Amino acid sequence: MAIIASNFKTNHTRKSTALFVNEVNNYLKSNNIKNEVYVFPTATSLDLFDTVPTFSIGVQNAYATANGSFTGEIGTTQLDEFEIKTILIGHSERRHILGESQNKIAKKYEFYKELGYKIIYCIGEPLEVKNQGLIKTLEYIYEQFDGIDTNYENLILAYEPVWAIGTGVTATNEDIENIHNSIKEKIKKPLLYGGSVKVENVREICQIPNVDGALIGTASWKTEDFIQILENTK
Ligand code: PGA
Repeated sequence: MAIIASNFKTNHTRKSTALFVNEVNNYLKSNNIKNEVYVFPTATSLDLFDTVPTFSIGVQNAYATANGSFTGEIGTTQLDEFEIKTILIGHSERRHILGESQNKIAKKYEFYKELGYKIIYCIGEPLEVKNQGLIKTLEYIYEQFDGIDTNYENLILAYEPVWAIGTGVTATNEDIENIHNSIKEKIKKPLLYGGSVKVENVREICQIPNVDGALIGTASWKTEDFIQILENTK
């Protein structure tokens, strides 16, 4: 069994999301899929998942608050309206483009952990760190666990090398295996790989030892591709 997660990022309209939900739901209902399936849509489409029991729905981001004065953010008061109990934390785009520090990420993690949310927690190194070799890469990754309680029961990890995200360049199977083995030795939690996972390589990646599934951006946005990904990993 694999965990397959789709991260919409800033893509899809309500209309295209509704089509996605409908088709993926029909596919899952009529096929015997044992995989655990997660979708992280844009916040503007969360309600479209209200009546879909076949997969889990999460938010790509939220602030560590119930409510208050945090312009542009959403908190648990809003998430509760959609019965959201799953959140992505530490995604590289939030770390590197939106400037979230490890300290902020750890605070967010603690807040959502206390509320029992399922957390998909992302880690991964930029290219200049990868180029310094495996030991440096692992050191960098372990720093991304600062302030993070890795014993938390509702934790899923996602190793996503920054240089592989959205670039079409997937990490080699050997790289993935090395990093996953090392992380798993320390932290016994489900560990997904993310970074240019595609229809063509998802099956092979999910079969690498210590890979428990995939977190997929680009290749999951077209409904037929996402369904093919589910088909290839069932
Ligand atoms: P990608 O994104 O599949 O487009 O590389 C993965 C992610 O950011 O989760």
